[in-house]
Amino acid sequence: MSIQLQIEATRGSARAGTLITPHGEVETPVFMPVGTLASVKGVSQDVLEELGVQILLSNTYHLYLRPGIETVRQMGGLHRFMSWDRAMLTDSGGFQVFSLNDLRKVSEEGVAFRSHLDGSPHFLSPEKAMEIQIGLGADIIMAFDECTEYPADAQRARASMELTLRWAERCKKYFEEHKGEVPWGSSQPSALSSQQKQVLRFAQDDNSKGHWKGQTQALFGIVQGGMDAALRRESAGRTIDIGFPGYAIGGLSVGEPRELTRDIVESTLEHLPSDQPRYLMGVGTPEEIAQYAQSGVDMMDCVLPTRAARHGLLFTSEGKVSIKQARYAQDESALDPACDCRVCQRYSRAYLRHLYASNELLAQVLNTVHNLRFYLATMRSVRGWIRAGRGATPPVC
Ligand SMILES: [Zn+2]
Repeated sequence: MSIQLQIEATRGSARAGTLITPHGEVETPVFMPVGTLASVKGVSQDVLEELGVQILLSNTYHLYLRPGIETVRQMGGLHRFMSWDRAMLTDSGGFQVFSLNDLRKVSEEGVAFRSHLDGSPHFLSPEKAMEIQIGLGADIIMAFDECTEYPADAQRARASMELTLRWAERCKKYFEEHKGEVPWGSSQPSALSSQQKQVLRFAQDDNSKGHWKGQTQALFGIVQGGMDAALRRESAGRTIDIGFPGYAIGGLSVGEPRELTRDIVESTLEHLPSDQPRYLMGVGTPEEIAQYAQSGVDMMDCVLPTRAARHGLLFTSEGKVSIKQARYAQDESALDPACDCRVCQRYSRAYLRHLYASNELLAQVLNTVHNLRFYLATMRSVRGWIRAGRGATPPVC
């Protein structure tokens, strides 16, 4: 057993539950902050814990280039390297590689690309993406897929979907043959504090190298099919036939209208197993993540709260606040009076505006802390709404 979703309440299509991973439990539906380079920009791990983050996402492509997989593996995997004992997910690197446009070439075997850092040549295949993600050691890893571009004609969308399906089979085959190579516990975790050791809930099994009582990573399959509902249905069915412990909806937020994203999500969700995790990749605004959770999505990630924070755009219960505006220069009120985060409890809008206008590093830190808290609180209210059953007020969306 690598992962388990316990569904504890349902309301319409929505479900609330607990995702049990080798590195702890995750309340679902969940928003996963993005820590691209094994770091959520500007926010330390102890603050992430205080915010209530139970699962983080890191990017395979970026970690592969820097610091390199062998370094992370030598350091005992991503959890130990970045001192994060809670659950983690890595993407396959596919999305970033496909975003390189002029720097990549796709073949049946995989994708040749050039590093955005120094132009050096690299090659990513389904097998290589698995090898890298096993070396990183996240609890949940993703199949290497082709993210179909938008717009794509019917022939192109089908060809891309078929390639993703063939790659999904190769990913699963490699993963099944190599999943025992995950770096967890392969050496004594001497660098861990006593508190960290306490958090590690799976005692090391001395008889099996690198296993925490037989736990392994979970490999998720990804549904593609462009913006065609019929192709999405076919992709879902054939990905399920290959068989994964969880399924993601990929290939969205690639430039299509928001209404189309929603239609494709809705039409894909109904074809995914009801008893397994459903992960919608790369969305969205607070309103959108609340909507998708109410539609039955269990897991979501997005760079929006962290990236927007660094640009002074803050999400609050009263709507968006662009903290750079002069109107906040002498505003003594809290950023969001309804927010319980350490920023809103302590600082005024005037101070936050000053920090941003002065280009102080602290502006990025505080803005990110608040935005993450707002996203996490949004999901907490959706979970409460699902669990409350009848009579409760639905979350704002
Ligand atoms: Zn706040």
